[in-house]
Amino acid sequence: MSDIAVILPDGTELSVEEGATVRDAAFAIGPGLGKDTVAGVVDGELVDKKTPLHDGADLVIVTDQSDEYLDVLRHSAAHVFAQALQRLHPEAKLTIGPWTDDGFYYDVTSVDLEQEELEAIEDEMRDIIEEDLDIERALVDREEALEKYADNPYKRDILETEAAGDDELSFYQQGEFEDLCKGPHVESTGEIGAVKLLNISAAYWRGDEENDTLTRVYGTAFESESDLEAFLDMREEAKERDHRKLGQELNLFAIDETTGPGLPLYQPNGKRILDELADYAKQLNLDAGYDPVETPHLFRTELWKKSGHYENYVDDMFLLDVNDEEYGLKPMNCPGHATIFDQQSWSYRDLPVRYFEDGKVYRKEQRGELSGLSRVWSFTIDDGHLFVRPDQIEDEINLIIDNILSVFDTFGLDAEVALATRPEKSVGSDEIWEQAETQLRAVLDDSGIDYGIEAGDGAFYGPKIDFAFKDALGRKWDGPTVQLDFNMPDRFDLTYTGEDNEDHQPVMIHRALYGSYERFFMVLIEHFNGKFPFWLAPEQVRILPISDDQMGYAKQLQYELGDFRVDIEDRSWTLGRKIREAQTDRVPYMVIVGGDEEEDGTISVRDRKEREAKDVSVEAFRDHLRSEYDEKRPEPDFLADAE
Ligand SMILES: [Zn+2]
Ligand SMILES: [Zn+2]
Repeated sequence: MSDIAVILPDGTELSVEEGATVRDAAFAIGPGLGKDTVAGVVDGELVDKKTPLHDGADLVIVTDQSDEYLDVLRHSAAHVFAQALQRLHPEAKLTIGPWTDDGFYYDVTSVDLEQEELEAIEDEMRDIIEEDLDIERALVDREEALEKYADNPYKRDILETEAAGDDELSFYQQGEFEDLCKGPHVESTGEIGAVKLLNISAAYWRGDEENDTLTRVYGTAFESESDLEAFLDMREEAKERDHRKLGQELNLFAIDETTGPGLPLYQPNGKRILDELADYAKQLNLDAGYDPVETPHLFRTELWKKSGHYENYVDDMFLLDVNDEEYGLKPMNCPGHATIFDQQSWSYRDLPVRYFEDGKVYRKEQRGELSGLSRVWSFTIDDGHLFVRPDQIEDEINLIIDNILSVFDTFGLDAEVALATRPEKSVGSDEIWEQAETQLRAVLDDSGIDYGIEAGDGAFYGPKIDFAFKDALGRKWDGPTVQLDFNMPDRFDLTYTGEDNEDHQPVMIHRALYGSYERFFMVLIEHFNGKFPFWLAPEQVRILPISDDQMGYAKQLQYELGDFRVDIEDRSWTLGRKIREAQTDRVPYMVIVGGDEEEDGTISVRDRKEREAKDVSVEAFRDHLRSEYDEKRPEPDFLADAE
């Protein structure tokens, strides 16, 4: 029998017999590993350990020590949920039940479920775990599979679409339960340490609101009860910090049904924060040699046809008919910037050319998917496009990475970095892709950043580096990206004159520091729990006069601190209530003034961490605020010594 070679994570090749499975390969590495194998990741996809390998496959062995193990465990928990549901409600029909970042869900139908019933299902799940049923994979031929699902149009739909070409279908069985499923799964239900059903919501079949409404049950699973407890605590905290809740309480933003779904309205408090963010990004961009540009909100669809967006993106675009001509609200800023570049002739000495714009874009997401600021129809990207010579790519990417990481640093967010490589559907030659991926890899290696590989996750026009934000609760959110693009310069026929006096095509780099302001704002609200650093806080100082007699002095202080956002609490409340209110509003500093302070010309300062100092000079306080603001310090620290 001939051999095939698979590629292990460290780049080495492992030679195995043709037809060898993931587990066979693991045994070839070592018998211990072979025994411990739970599943495999083949070419980026999590698969059953019995999956046969192909020549040249990228292989990662998954054991119960791997990050992917939790995904496998949770998918098995989804099956346990489905089994429990069918024990208690035999009429329930199953559709899909994947794992997610923090658990699993299962979309079901033909059953009425209320939140209160989850507990009974959960008890049944625990029984199934107790029964420690073997989870076994079986291959079933197409006819038989279609028969099994004679009265389940959703599973039949899967058989006729995703699985259309398969003669044999993979099923997983445990006890009396079976499910059409690609896997992988743990060995037995007893391996699942702890489960919890979380909530019920509505979902559409295939996420399309034209389709049937299904019932989605969310749950999670962990290896141990203590891991589950920690997760549930974090989830409570996350609920408290939910940006939709804080957005309303702190008057940051609103989404109003009358003005439209997914179209955020920023109140003054929110806009003040956005303005600070924009000023900060603008300064970073100017310092890095970017030039500001501006483009309108809509363009003729001619432009979108030229850029390829019309072909690939039209379902997500808002189109308008103007005097019998078709226009589209812009889903991206790049074609506008490419057109601006094209207005001038450029020499090799002029490059790199770097444009930036806080560009508002519009993308028509499914209404059911819209949520707070995380999924919206209109959002602003702090968008930058660079037009560079091929020999400038590495330096430019290095500079961009430095800028992005300094942003993470300023906000105290951890970065998770990944290189996303060529997807199946892509444009451009093998050579160009090879070269581009090698260049990005070289930059990342030189920078010493830890990064992962997202195989096949690049844009269709080029590879990219993805940055994810990790917030104070350890959650991950999509962040900025850096993308290399050889396609758009070609479509727009962009050129510069080379040293050889010939026309050459520049390479385009797309990048953002935040990504979208909406997403970033959401992350910041939850990351800081609404307690924004002084430089961002919409109201930075609140003056609390002890009685109305100090109103004049309060106004004088407001004037003296006039560089900052200072309000006076003028309601005739007790001081205690005034302090509580400022605390709830998360104002970084309270300035408390009574008769003594007015007489001495001093102030008492209290911060939102409940630290206090008396007899403070106004100048000392003002000087401190200036440096705290300029240095963008993460916490109010005038009273750091007063703890
Ligand atoms: Zn499954
Ligand atoms: Zn772009």
